Amino acid sequence: MSEQNFDVVILGAGSGGYAAALRAAQLGMTVGLIEKGKLGGTCLHVGCIPTKALLHSAEVADVTREGAQYGVRSEFLGVDISAVTKYREEIVSSKFRGLTGLIKQRGITVIEGTGRLVSPTSVQVGDDLIIGKNVILASGSYSRTLPGLEIGGRVITSEQALELDFIPKTVAVLGGGVIGVEFASVWKSFGADVTIIEALPHLVPNEDESVSKQFERAYRKRGIAFHLGTRFQSVTQDDNGVVVTLENGKTIEAELLLVAVGRGPSTANLGYEEVGVTIDRGFVITNERLETNIPGLYAVGDIVPGLQLAHRGFQHGIFVAEEIAGLAPAVISDLNIPKVTYSHPEVASVGLSEAQARVQYGDDAILSYDYNLAGNGKSHIIGTSGSIKVVRVIDGPVVGVHMIGDRVGELIGEAQLAVNWEANPEDIAPLLHAHPTQHEALGEAFLAISGKPLHAL
Ligand SMILES: Cc1cc2nc3c(=O)[nH]c(=O)nc-3n(C[C@H](O)[C@H](O)[C@H](O)COP(=O)(O)OP(=O)(O)OC[C@H]3O[C@@H](n4cnc5c(N)ncnc54)[C@H](O)[C@@H]3O)c2cc1C
Repeated sequence: MSEQNFDVVILGAGSGGYAAALRAAQLGMTVGLIEKGKLGGTCLHVGCIPTKALLHSAEVADVTREGAQYGVRSEFLGVDISAVTKYREEIVSSKFRGLTGLIKQRGITVIEGTGRLVSPTSVQVGDDLIIGKNVILASGSYSRTLPGLEIGGRVITSEQALELDFIPKTVAVLGGGVIGVEFASVWKSFGADVTIIEALPHLVPNEDESVSKQFERAYRKRGIAFHLGTRFQSVTQDDNGVVVTLENGKTIEAELLLVAVGRGPSTANLGYEEVGVTIDRGFVITNERLETNIPGLYAVGDIVPGLQLAHRGFQHGIFVAEEIAGLAPAVISDLNIPKVTYSHPEVASVGLSEAQARVQYGDDAILSYDYNLAGNGKSHIIGTSGSIKVVRVIDGPVVGVHMIGDRVGELIGEAQLAVNWEANPEDIAPLLHAHPTQHEALGEAFLAISGKPLHAL
């Protein structure tokens, strides 16, 4: 068996793994980056990027249909799915080329193949032993399903949904979380009849309840059907389609069933347990500095319990590289990681929901203000409705921002800055927002919650 030695060995080159590699190399370490698939992982190839390309095509379809509303003669003639695929694939391959070049430029050694942890400091890839002074586990996640619900045929996950070469006439979507509602949004815009099934009482159930309710109204208005608070029981399929039965006895017939019930950690059969890494329900348990129970062995990204988001993976990767370099980086809590759902309408949030803030600080210590986008010129111009809710501690900082409306995902940068900087609304309200922008709505909410509303009561 041949050996290769590095300062840092990273198992998996998704958002978490490649970010760790880039930062470690920048800090002067030699890096061995092991990947069995493609550099960039889930997010670049089957996650964030291709789904957002699909959502953009969907938006163009909607805008085309609505042209007359803006005085533009346009006729929606349909969606050419092979052209959509070409557009999506071009975006992904261009980003892939860019990432591959960057990794090469930083002098990172990419080791192609399936790795297995064989000791706290080494990973085996085929006949090669890749040894690191430190090892970072970054093996990512896979689409989960439910017990008894087999993926195959007309029962698909997001990976197959992305690759479809046709637009289904009817689709059932199991799961009203971010992945489920994003695909529902695309398919509806492409002309399908969509029904979402969610066991919890709301769509986008991890959001502030006021946002979930507005989201449900918006989806109802779009003609997207949903069943809430009811669990999936079984599915049958034949040549014509699927029949989904719910626990309440209702049945839904559709061409396809998309299973979007979350992502499980890819940690099985990778040697983690054999080497003694503490695992809980498949997730790798770390301390807040992302070190496992084995000193010098770290984990990043979706295999660490918490929000499964690409930018959390990036942050984890940077953090661990700096930690190994002895830079003592600051811990970023999951709570203050911005979240965006890129559907039509979008949802974007950071920090505590109003209900969580009231539990954490006490009812009397919390103030919230919900600014309606009806008062925002730019939102009116682009034809969107929604709201921006700011939650603050009285005489204290902004602890949560919750937004809904087309394009509000682009506002999350300012919202996360306010929350993470623990800004008091009084301090940031005087800072200007260009007119007319949707950013002004955030400014109006900060003004209003500091007691001096401008275009609001
Ligand atoms: C449909 C969809 C849409 C999404 N949209 C968004 C979004 O808009 N925004 C957002 O922030 N997040 C989004 N996500 C989530 C995001 O993709 C993940 O949070 C992110 O990819 C996690 O990064 P990671 O490095 O932990 O794992 P991954 O990206 O899964 O990377 C892990 C890598 O490890 C490799 N690997 C695994 N085992 C081995 C092994 N034994 N040997 C060698 N290599 C191995 C895999 O091939 C993979 O490349 C989306 C996910 C999906 C599925």
